[in-house]
Amino acid sequence: MKKILILTTGGTIASVQSPDGLVPGMSSEQLRGHLPQIGADIAIDIIELFHIDSTDMTVDHWITIIHAIRDHYDDYDGFVICHGTDTMAYTAAMLSYTIQDSDKPIVLTGAQKPIGFEITDAKSNLQDSILYAADPRSRGVQVVFAGKVIAGTRARKIRSMSFSAFSSINLPEIADINNGQIIRYLTDPAYCKPAGEGNHSTGAAVRFCDAIDPNVFLLKLTPSMSPELLPEIFRIYDAIVIESFGAGGIPASLEQTLFEELAKYRPEEKILAMTTQVPFEGSHLETYAVGRRIAGSFQILEARDITLEATVAKLMWILADKDQSWEEIQRRFYTPIAMDTLITPEESCGGFVLR
Ligand code: ASP
Repeated sequence: MKKILILTTGGTIASVQSPDGLVPGMSSEQLRGHLPQIGADIAIDIIELFHIDSTDMTVDHWITIIHAIRDHYDDYDGFVICHGTDTMAYTAAMLSYTIQDSDKPIVLTGAQKPIGFEITDAKSNLQDSILYAADPRSRGVQVVFAGKVIAGTRARKIRSMSFSAFSSINLPEIADINNGQIIRYLTDPAYCKPAGEGNHSTGAAVRFCDAIDPNVFLLKLTPSMSPELLPEIFRIYDAIVIESFGAGGIPASLEQTLFEELAKYRPEEKILAMTTQVPFEGSHLETYAVGRRIAGSFQILEARDITLEATVAKLMWILADKDQSWEEIQRRFYTPIAMDTLITPEESCGGFVLR
């Protein structure tokens, strides 16, 4: 008998119609009444953590989720978190950094239509998630949605209404789930125990971290952006992620102010990380002069193939530890975790970014 714990947080999956629109208000008992058909060999418990639209997700909610998994870790074989789709990719990335080396699966799922609606994706998503969480080969943090299993560090919401709402960015999907069959494509130990070794352990014990620094700012560039706000952003935040264009670069309109701000701080005091607005294939600052100017003049981080959501979450996780050297911050950022990057620190050291 497999024991699965469902943690509910709200979102569309557990929403009901109200005069003001959909609100997440379903109790665990109501949710249990809607549960799809699950094999008799799987026992399910449900804990209601909160009832929020995931737009309202905060660091405090993340810590509550981490504590709930930590406190029940030994009692269950797998975990399914019902979560709103809007910020699910951020939560999945954050859990990938704050719960490492989990030999048990931690699955995030949700829906585009509430589970109580006649036409809904909630039942199949929940059924697939429970099935995946109960599979002896599953481990680590993943999103299960619309028949896809996506690494927690690689998910992105790409559709606001259709059922196929998530995509895996810069990494193939871990698996497909079709008619109750799990077809695995990636067999990396971060996500999958080797076939036939259902009880295999990586040897490393699960590690939980509940320190998160929310002071990470994401600045999306638009053509002709005014630099006026930059000094204030630098004053308030510990890290600034610049979501640049294409392969990456800083527009001339921002350059002088940005460089003046960067020059005021040591690299470990204010982290600047460059990423791209382009969904696939990552940043490549070395390609163009607009990218080389900043990467050649300052000690900054480059997200490369790490997704935007994972970049923000990884910095929030890293910067929760205070008084780290620049070398330590670089080492942690470029060290692959749960397949968030396929570029190793060694490759980076010999390359352009890591100096
Ligand atoms: N606004 C909802 C949420 O993220 C959307 C959803 O769950 O699909 O909570």
